[in-house]
Amino acid sequence: MLIDIDRLPKEGLRLSGDFEFLNLDLVEENAVVLEPAHAEIAVRLIGEEILIRGEITAQLSFVCSRCLIPFEFPVASKFDLIYLPEELDALSEELSDEKLGQMYYSGRQLDLRAVVLEQLNLTFPAKPLCAPGCEGICAVCGELIHDAACSCLVKESDPRWNKIKFNVRDKS
Ligand SMILES: [Zn+2]
Ligand SMILES: [Zn+2]
Repeated sequence: MLIDIDRLPKEGLRLSGDFEFLNLDLVEENAVVLEPAHAEIAVRLIGEEILIRGEITAQLSFVCSRCLIPFEFPVASKFDLIYLPEELDALSEELSDEKLGQMYYSGRQLDLRAVVLEQLNLTFPAKPLCAPGCEGICAVCGELIHDAACSCLVKESDPRWNKIKFNVRDKS
């Protein structure tokens, strides 16, 4: 979905659409697209800056980084972005921290599909978990701890371990 910058109406543009992404488009390993992502987007041109405000909803499936079981990962995310013309960037050579996060458009066009995909990918957690308290797989027997399939924990009878575990849980 390409937006032609020079044809943007003064009052801006409102768009609503479904975006079909491939599993490969997602930065998360083993992620599966369950439904096309839906986005509501408002685009405005102010001077040379493109303002994009939008909302994405998507239904994905991730694999839990602890127990390795797939789980549904619904996305409902809002974003508020400013794109500057790339030509403007060429004028100043210095790269400040601020500029690293700055987004640019070039060729008087903006690819909304790419914008939505980038924003979708930004919603992913660094380590997806099926549940915040997922205890994962036992390092000793390889069984799921949460199904009580593993009975290895009873072997850790040293009370110092219990204290450490208690502290870790306390923080979460
Ligand atoms: Zn899990
Ligand atoms: Zn075990």
